[in-house]
Amino acid sequence: MKKEAVITEERTLDPQYWSALNELGHRMLDDLFYYLETSRQRPVYTKPTAAAIDSMQQPVPEMPQDAVSVYEDFLKHVLPYNTNNIHPRFWAWVQGGGTPLGMLADMLASGMNANVSIGDSMPMHVEKQVLDWSKQIMGFPETASGLLISGASLANITALVVARHHADRNIKTKGLQSLPGPLTIYGSSETHNCVMKGVEVIGIGSDNFRKVPVDENYRIRTDVLQRMIVEDIAAGCRPFCIVGNAGTVNTGAIDALDELAAIAKEHNLWLHVDGAFGAIPNLLPEFASRLKGLELANSLSFDFHKWMYVNYEAACVLVRDPELHREAFAYAVSYLMVHDRGLSAGPDGYNNYGMELSRGFKALKVWMSLKQYGLETYRTLIRQNLQQAQYLAELVQNDPLLELMAPVPLNIVCFRYNPANMLTGELNNLNREILMRLHEKGIAAPSYTLLNGQYCIRVAITNHRSQFNDFELLVNEIAAIGKEVVSSKW
Ligand SMILES: *Cc1c(COP(=O)(O)O)cnc(C)c1O
Repeated sequence: MKKEAVITEERTLDPQYWSALNELGHRMLDDLFYYLETSRQRPVYTKPTAAAIDSMQQPVPEMPQDAVSVYEDFLKHVLPYNTNNIHPRFWAWVQGGGTPLGMLADMLASGMNANVSIGDSMPMHVEKQVLDWSKQIMGFPETASGLLISGASLANITALVVARHHADRNIKTKGLQSLPGPLTIYGSSETHNCVMKGVEVIGIGSDNFRKVPVDENYRIRTDVLQRMIVEDIAAGCRPFCIVGNAGTVNTGAIDALDELAAIAKEHNLWLHVDGAFGAIPNLLPEFASRLKGLELANSLSFDFHKWMYVNYEAACVLVRDPELHREAFAYAVSYLMVHDRGLSAGPDGYNNYGMELSRGFKALKVWMSLKQYGLETYRTLIRQNLQQAQYLAELVQNDPLLELMAPVPLNIVCFRYNPANMLTGELNNLNREILMRLHEKGIAAPSYTLLNGQYCIRVAITNHRSQFNDFELLVNEIAAIGKEVVSSKW
């Protein structure tokens, strides 16, 4: 039976004439360089307009639109309303600022359209190089395995899956229901919520996460941890993992990792360290002693996109025992076999070390950044951020209307505006109002947290563009807004 050809012209998504797109591409580059160069001149926060939001509530486009006009939509409706973590006074949550070279590296990776999973290609080796460098930075043995992944949240889950496999290799096939008692896991009450989500997702259940209380410095109480483990064993539970914090998200507290390593060893537990940002100062010789024990962890997660200032997304998980890591994830199937030669020859696929099969070329921006800046530049910038945190803490302590709310062991400063004679509830509302006005006026973007029920303005400094006088401006503006709010009986 003869079929009528309906296609009269063969199509592709590539342009017919490249020069117009070439011109648009150069315009985009110029615009973005200008955007980065002038970030300080714009407000740190700009609320998306109704028109911008409306532009994202349109039907699926049926007909094609010119690339230039699509770009103009982006310029008009998207770019001006960025989260704006590229601004020198962005200190909310824990977000890095990215770099111009990182932006270009993402373009290169995207242009290659590399899928860094299996096969004999250089992107695989670039990722291996970045993982080897990561091991050196963190003091892990060169035999360790690792994986680049979107963020510390997924890095933590990846590590917990290996920890679960370490607890009992049968779980992989028989499931947790094959165990006589529940697996239990331990971490301080300051542990990041993504660990709790991970514990839920991998079937441990958050009720089996034992939130160990912290001391006055927000560090895990190791004496209580010991007691909890012993009690759980006596009750028929199966302790399997301790999660240590190298830099808690609230205050930057660093657990006594060496003590956690000793406790883990004593009970044959897995020690995972969440070092999302706080593991990075391991680069500094003068700081490394405060992270003592980091190198003893069975696994470690950290972000490149926070305190290594790499553009989103890029994080890393390292696992001391590469065989266990591989065993936890590898799954032999006929369509992913390694061949002797050709495209399907080694190296070992990254799909054997995590959940993702298709994976982007995150490694390129990390590789290029580490080469361009060198560890010396990172050390300088991390020291600068640490000093800025101490400087802000001093400014707060020298101002009678401001109150420092937690110790500052790292790069996070929690404080509040506190005119005398106000109750906690009133102070909480006052400081929330100050923060919202600080954002709305586009002055600075700290975030917030509650410490013992008390609302704090929280400044997390993983920003390579911040200058010391930005913190002076912050404190002065908070004093001015505080006065304004109090006198206006808001
Ligand atoms: C940010 C953070 C995470 C989560 O990392 P993502 O990169 O956002 O997924 C986990 N733990 C800590 C301590 C963090 O600060």
